Amino acid sequence: MAGTLKPDDLGPFRRTLQGLRARLKGDLSQMTDEALRLSAASGFSNLSNVPLHMADVGTENYDQEFTLGLIENEQGTLDLIEEALGRMERGTYGLCIECGGAIARPRLQAIPYARHCINCARLAENGG
Ligand SMILES: [Zn+2]
Repeated sequence: MAGTLKPDDLGPFRRTLQGLRARLKGDLSQMTDEALRLSAASGFSNLSNVPLHMADVGTENYDQEFTLGLIENEQGTLDLIEEALGRMERGTYGLCIECGGAIARPRLQAIPYARHCINCARLAENGG
């Protein structure tokens, strides 16, 4: 099929995925540390360092939730990357998990861990 990835074409995608995985794993441990530090700080600051305004407390909680949200997103991306590398091992990388059609190369270059072809991705976004 035209546009299908050949084994020789996988190298750059594999390297991109492995690089992304390494970066996300580094980010994840860094952000987890940061979230724990914030959590500890808000727990122990009550005695010696009472915030002057309630707004300060709100901001701190917001920052923490924001960081935890990022961790969730990055963990999800990390899962997708692991899946994509697994599909590479099985020889199904670049194929839509929904319809089995080839995922267009520009889409893979933009999102190397994409699971769906553009048509199925659009259908999923529309709730179907
Ligand atoms: Zn599809």
